[in-house]
Amino acid sequence: MNSSSYISFSVPDIGEEEIAEVVATMRSGWLTTGEKTAQFEKEFREYTNARQSLAVSSCTAGLHLALTALRLKPGDEVITTPLTFCATITAILHAGATPVLADVDADGNLSPESARKRVTSKTRAIIPVHLGGLPCEMDGIWRLAEEYGLAVVEDAAHAVGACYHDVPIGASSAPSDVVAFSFYATKNLTTGEGGMVTTGSADLYEQMKTLALHGISKDAWNRYSREGNWFYDVLEPGFKYNLPDLLSGIGLQQLRRLESFIAARKRIADLYRELLADVDELELPRERAGRRHAWHLFAIRLNLEQINLDRAEFIESLRKRGIGASVHFIPVPLLSFFRPWAELPHNACPRALALYPRLVSLPMHSRLTEDEVRRVAAIVKQTLHNARRAKKSFAPCA
Ligand SMILES: *Cc1c(COP(=O)(O)O)cnc(C)c1O
Repeated sequence: MNSSSYISFSVPDIGEEEIAEVVATMRSGWLTTGEKTAQFEKEFREYTNARQSLAVSSCTAGLHLALTALRLKPGDEVITTPLTFCATITAILHAGATPVLADVDADGNLSPESARKRVTSKTRAIIPVHLGGLPCEMDGIWRLAEEYGLAVVEDAAHAVGACYHDVPIGASSAPSDVVAFSFYATKNLTTGEGGMVTTGSADLYEQMKTLALHGISKDAWNRYSREGNWFYDVLEPGFKYNLPDLLSGIGLQQLRRLESFIAARKRIADLYRELLADVDELELPRERAGRRHAWHLFAIRLNLEQINLDRAEFIESLRKRGIGASVHFIPVPLLSFFRPWAELPHNACPRALALYPRLVSLPMHSRLTEDEVRRVAAIVKQTLHNARRAKKSFAPCA
């Protein structure tokens, strides 16, 4: 197989606009956070209908900033899902709080009912993750948050462009406190590395802005103009989480093309679903009423009892035939560092653990051609057909 025919799991969609923007920034003499970042924040605010937006170096940084700005204390608990990237959990730990796992619903997203069972007198916040770009059952989560006075920080790493009840994820009309987006290389909108937080709260915004740049105070900036450009003051130990203009320029151009990326992803998802509709050995991802799926991932579920392959063998057989696939996610309890903590009974998540061996993310990115999607679907179908188990005979004397 030659490498040009290999169908990658994910490819960034970088055009001439992004390249020209980077070159222009390099020629401008201003590389770090400046006008391009301010413009990116402004257009992102407009796109998501957010009151405040802060460009950051990653979604991980954004989650850490949000949880730090909430001033969590040791012993405070933050409820989240086991089907996420490890960064969701480590952000809670780095903010000094204790993560608590709730189980997932049939769609793979955090279950509000399970989260409700995890609420204690120490619970302070809840982090839903819009897995694969499908918005969580936010009404249930917001109801829970209101009832118990919890903060809501959305991990929207997969969900730029997604909507819930026709409202963009990140919009300030929604009751969440902070929404964190990722612009990592594989995500729907990429700056290579980067992220954005949106919030409706002027207070959280000011705190996150200060914390993102060493804890240098806003007041200090006023004095900076009075005393001279050498002056600064530090009010608390902050972080270095700003996004430079070099990357924000890429983000600006990506944002202007985002709707076309999502339309392409939706077309690909629809074609996959049409081509794989009659394959009994797998279950297809579904859309849900009232939600716009951003189709960051196209994750199928294998019906393992019908085939004589396990998930690793299935992915390996796709790879041998020139198709890249992946898994989202290895549930947090299965990662070594988290295991002792995850074994505590209040972190039990049997549904997520049962789902895990079935999950396979097929190639999904805006540059996939219709021919490529057809090839992937045909190979998936054939691989599963060849692996089909003989139907059990129920004849009593067979
Ligand atoms: C990618 C991802 C992150 C981390 O994003 P970075 O920008 O790489 O920090 C967090 N949560 C989820 C669910 C992700 O997929």
